[in-house]
Amino acid sequence: MTRFLALLVRNRLAAAGGIILFCVLVLTLITPFLPLQDPDVTATANRFLRPFSPGHLLGTDHLGRDLLSRLLWGTRLSLAVGIAAAVLAAVIGSAIGITAGYFGGRTDNIIMRLVDMLMAFPYILLALAIVAALGPGLMNALIAVAAVNIPFFARNIRGITVGLAGQEFVDAARLGGLGHTRIILTELLPNVIPVIVIAMSTTVGWMILETAGLSFLGLGSQPPQADLGSMLGEARSALITSPHTSVIPGLMIFIIVMSINLLGDGVRDALDPRLRSGALSRPRAATLVERQGEIPAASDDLLAIQELETQFHVGQRTYRAVNQVSLSVRPGECLGVIGESGSGKSVTALSVMGLVASPPGVITGGAVRFRGDDLVGMPYEQLRQKRGDRVAYIFQDPLSTLHPLYRTGDQLAEAIRSHHRIDKAQARARAIDLFKAVRIPNAESRIDNYPHEMSGGMRQRVGIAMALANEPDVIIADEPTTALDVTVQAQILTLLDELRRERGLAIIFITHDFGVVGQLCDRVAVMYAGRIIEEGPTGAVLAAPAHPYTKRLIACVPELGEGRRKLAAIPGLPPAVDRLPAGCAFAERCDKAQEACRTGDISLSGTAPRTVRCLFPEEAMP
Ligand code: ADP
Ligand code: MG
Repeated sequence: MTRFLALLVRNRLAAAGGIILFCVLVLTLITPFLPLQDPDVTATANRFLRPFSPGHLLGTDHLGRDLLSRLLWGTRLSLAVGIAAAVLAAVIGSAIGITAGYFGGRTDNIIMRLVDMLMAFPYILLALAIVAALGPGLMNALIAVAAVNIPFFARNIRGITVGLAGQEFVDAARLGGLGHTRIILTELLPNVIPVIVIAMSTTVGWMILETAGLSFLGLGSQPPQADLGSMLGEARSALITSPHTSVIPGLMIFIIVMSINLLGDGVRDALDPRLRSGALSRPRAATLVERQGEIPAASDDLLAIQELETQFHVGQRTYRAVNQVSLSVRPGECLGVIGESGSGKSVTALSVMGLVASPPGVITGGAVRFRGDDLVGMPYEQLRQKRGDRVAYIFQDPLSTLHPLYRTGDQLAEAIRSHHRIDKAQARARAIDLFKAVRIPNAESRIDNYPHEMSGGMRQRVGIAMALANEPDVIIADEPTTALDVTVQAQILTLLDELRRERGLAIIFITHDFGVVGQLCDRVAVMYAGRIIEEGPTGAVLAAPAHPYTKRLIACVPELGEGRRKLAAIPGLPPAVDRLPAGCAFAERCDKAQEACRTGDISLSGTAPRTVRCLFPEEAMP
């Protein structure tokens, strides 16, 4: 709640709207206690007095009634009716929406068709018809405005509920034996309330306007009772001769609706966590680059990540997801990058091709060199040419990276055609070749499958085929086997290894499993809290890990025939990367840590290719 308020206050416009609205609300609440004249007493001798006349601060109207008094009482009434209508519409509309969305099927169909019928009328006509049927009066205007807005809430909330009702937590509640009412009230409602609040905050202003509109037409509040709409209506005939009688209520309506809308937008932004992190703002085509300091000189590696720093700037916080990371691969080499979840492996991989979403991602230092050219800060068009062509990615979950509505073969052909000018038939033939290359049986018929018609292993093969489509020099595989079972994982690893040898591919293989590294990689780099803490040839690291963290990670791998060995989990959690401790980030969890580990930066020691970032390594470096 305090976080919500803090966000709201930071949004200046919303805060201004909130303050103005608050003042108006306070004024209307204390209206009965202010020394005001009776708003309904007429004094025809004093007609159309200008503002600042003695005894009448804002002047008088066509019947000589005090405008200040009428304005405050009128605002009170307009606000009360508008807000009541909004609450009524929100409650009824949301109830209808949740019911329709939760039960679905025929219930949904019938309810939503009724709602559609309501929506089919232009709503000011509908409101007029309702008031005409019920008779003029403020209460009936309220009912009309509420009724007209019910479909808006019903539709919105139904859409969201349909999505929620199919999710596992609702199934779990059903399995737990909860009744429909309980599920709706305890499982669904809390999830849709933010949406209801947002919808309300953005429509209250609108409903106040609608109520004023009905009163303006003489269908809402009846004389002598004042509300903002009827004040405007009565002042219409004197618009030219005594403009203040219309300007004053008009200004008030403007102020109220404006402040409510500003506040409403602020509430929406503050309540939506995706808006908060900037994810819904349109991402840039490539990660933002704001490099300070020197750019490292070119090396002769195929792909070299040099002292790369990638951060996330969210509000005041800075998440140092990748901190001075240097890695490199030569043609035909496989480099393993290993670390716990959250250690910055994916962000490192995505930074290579500028694929980290910006905002909030920013590359703040270092370079990524492909054949000597710096990819960081390369013009977007050149970078796009290289994406998928020279450097390709394989991601963890092929179901979410393949488009569900296109045939896999077509997606593969598209990947080829985005970099090469060939016709459809050729692209298809090439796609079949690629399917064969990744050992998909019956390639000719499988190519017409949709992603959901394939198993996880087959889908990942399609993912690999896509990465191979343009014969890249480097493949970055981000946990490609984590979503697969062990036998399929073994097949995929064998496949990658064969492809590497056949085509001289360089592979950067990201994983959290030392078993996989041992099977596939020539060299391995261990990451922790955004930094490389140990690097070396796989055999050497496995045989004699130097960093205590690496040693613990290796101890986590079960080995056949060693059933008695205790599988040690590493106690504690990695530090959050927006609050990194001074010194070694692993010190908290390390049983060898000493005072020196908690102060100052610890640099890599040893000579390439065998290095470690530790003051008290398990093994002395050569
Ligand atoms: P992994 O090693 O599991 O692939 P990631 O590279 O995905 O880890 O994440 C590295 C760190 O970056 C994590 O600690 C995470 O908290 C942080 N991070 C990732 N995306 C964002 C983001 N959009 N905003 C803030 N922090 C992020
Ligand atoms: Mg990851």
